[in-house]
Amino acid sequence: MSIALCPGSFDPVTNGHLDIIERTARHFDDVIVAVTRNPQKAQSRFSLEDRQEMLAEVIGHLENVRIESLTGLVVDFARSQGATAIVKGLRAISDFDYELQMAQMNQRLSGIDTFFISTSPQYSFLSSSLVCEVAKFGGDVSAMVPPGVVERLEKKFGPFVGNGG
Ligand code: ADP
Repeated sequence: MSIALCPGSFDPVTNGHLDIIERTARHFDDVIVAVTRNPQKAQSRFSLEDRQEMLAEVIGHLENVRIESLTGLVVDFARSQGATAIVKGLRAISDFDYELQMAQMNQRLSGIDTFFISTSPQYSFLSSSLVCEVAKFGGDVSAMVPPGVVERLEKKFGPFVGNGG
């Protein structure tokens, strides 16, 4: 039984995240989406509960995917769940430097390998932080995030006024 962990802050989940989760689910028996409190972000944009709820709304069709929350080391959590692989999405060369260091550190700490999936080109510019920046100023990001996220972004920042195509 192969179990993979997809860790991230998902603050909030985007169509780019969903693409990675769906593709991971085709290759592993079980996929655990582990929602972290991102230590590099002083404050999360959405609460852990909200982030998990938004994810739960969009992974219902994937029978082998479940959501867990994660504090502490990713590799400790992976081991506790019996996961033998960590799967990350790579958008651009800017992701690579940090992700390579993390993958090597995690391998050293635990022997758990990290697998990288290259982003689908239509999502390579997409990040949770950029989505929020745009939404904050009324830009229409409805083509980039699931409907439940659109709803919460509009509630938080006000209705979109731009044309997101
Ligand atoms: P971010 O890096 O945007 O703050 P997360 O911490 O939630 O987002 O990222 C979780 C994982 O999802 C990481 O491996 C990240 O590289 C990946 N990811 C985020 N956005 C995309 C995207 N648009 N395409 C592919 N992978 C992505």
